[in-house]
Amino acid sequence: MKIVLQNVTKIFPSRNKKTNEQVVAVNDFSIEVPDGKLIGLLGPSGCGKSTTLYMISGLQTPTQGKIFFGDDDVTKLSPENRGVGLVFQNYALYPHLTVQQNILFPLQNLKGADKLTKDEMLARTLEAAKLVQIDELLDRKPNELSGGQRQRVSIGVALIQKPRLIIADEPVSALDVTIQRQILELMRTVRDELGISFLFISHDLNVVYQLCDRVMVMKDGRIVEENTVQELFDHPREAYTRELLSAAD
Ligand code: ADP
Ligand code: MG
Repeated sequence: MKIVLQNVTKIFPSRNKKTNEQVVAVNDFSIEVPDGKLIGLLGPSGCGKSTTLYMISGLQTPTQGKIFFGDDDVTKLSPENRGVGLVFQNYALYPHLTVQQNILFPLQNLKGADKLTKDEMLARTLEAAKLVQIDELLDRKPNELSGGQRQRVSIGVALIQKPRLIIADEPVSALDVTIQRQILELMRTVRDELGISFLFISHDLNVVYQLCDRVMVMKDGRIVEENTVQELFDHPREAYTRELLSAAD
């Protein structure tokens, strides 16, 4: 599914009564993300990456601009109806539920024609658990898992509703390098097996380089440059991208 952001801006009102200064978190951001790709959104802390994610997933509404999934204008659509799976740095699992119950949880809220029987839910849960390779751990609670295993479960939760898009916000930033690599490999597998588009948010050049097909570089709420990973790393067009690359050498 193609994703289009058209002149998207997000302004947060001031929390400081004295200065009354607004925060322009995302500033006139336009991009067309092709279907079935692993897209990296790369930029320093505070540049507006998470806010962009929240607007695409529907958790926040743009102050201005429009968001399209394919040809559908989803700018005002609620998060439940967007078909976006989210994966966060800190896993966001229910601590009192088992792995199986965590993955199954979103299926219990399906209504009408989408409603599933208990057996169907269990079968779908097992299928997702196998894909993310945690089917041996279904009876554990999150605190009985390693960080990497928890992130696999989170990806399983994101997958279970058959999303049109998965957005992962710094999903490997809390993990050490070996585990990072395994999780990145898993995300590639998921993309290849299910053909879902992935938007991958990171401040880490190496991680983006390992995983992504295309990269958007972001700075101060704006998009600086968008290209294939290879082109962007080999022939950066913008001075800011060159700065970013040389700082990481
Ligand atoms: P990133 O994910 O790239 O680190 P964010 O999107 O979280 O950046 O934040 C972009 C800017 O918007 C920052 O200056 C941040 O402080 C501000 N911001 C984010 N969320 C809010 C909010 N709910 N209210 C006010 N300011 C916010
Ligand atoms: Mg962030």
